[in-house]
Amino acid sequence: MGRVYAILGDIHANIDALNVVLEDARAQGVTNFVSVGDVVGYNAAPAECIRVVRDELKCPVVRGNHDHYVSYLDTSLADFHPAAAQVVEWTRSQLSEEDMQWLHDLPLQKPIMGFMLVHSTLDMPDRWGYVFDNQQAEANFNYQRTPLCFHGHTHVPIIYAYTPGGVVHYEPCDFKLELGQRLFINVGSVGQPRDGDPRASYVIYDMDSRFIRFRRLEYDVTAAQARCLEAGLPERCAERLGVGR
Ligand code: ZN
Repeated sequence: MGRVYAILGDIHANIDALNVVLEDARAQGVTNFVSVGDVVGYNAAPAECIRVVRDELKCPVVRGNHDHYVSYLDTSLADFHPAAAQVVEWTRSQLSEEDMQWLHDLPLQKPIMGFMLVHSTLDMPDRWGYVFDNQQAEANFNYQRTPLCFHGHTHVPIIYAYTPGGVVHYEPCDFKLELGQRLFINVGSVGQPRDGDPRASYVIYDMDSRFIRFRRLEYDVTAAQARCLEAGLPERCAERLGVGR
């Protein structure tokens, strides 16, 4: 049987969302898990999410900006939103030295069986640039040597395609990857969706059939919010889970 990948992004310490995604992925026949990073940040279960991703799934992961800020103690948080910076500090207090080292050592990009993983963009993966339009996606394609690259960072699922006429984009949909296509796909966020839909997002890629599917799943948002508030995280972190922003 061929490999069926689940591509998980921006889990952001949301164990309630992650558990529902894993259950769905297994029911969908997923055999392998990979992640485009930001395992921690914003929510209240960073150690649990690291344990699942690293130990249970043995999941290849690339480093996201939150993973970076948490584990590189010399990075200035001045450019970071104060609420996000507060969670970075709190997250550090929750992690073991081993967890910190694991985050620290994650690569910025990673090739997997013929496709790439990156958190932000392949052109400058350490700059954490946001891809919100075709032009920003074009810079990535200059460095994309594989037909497929999955990314995250904006928490908004979308498909960018490189065509002879320039870069175009499509809303998330289920489709078959055709030969010659070059796609830069944002898998959306497991733990903090920002496209106005609070349901957890991830993508399935079946290597045999070449089918790509976007999944959205309801999970216990109230439980995740309660964890945030109980941990003393900024109220905004809890609020945004309810609205998907
Ligand atoms: Zn993120």
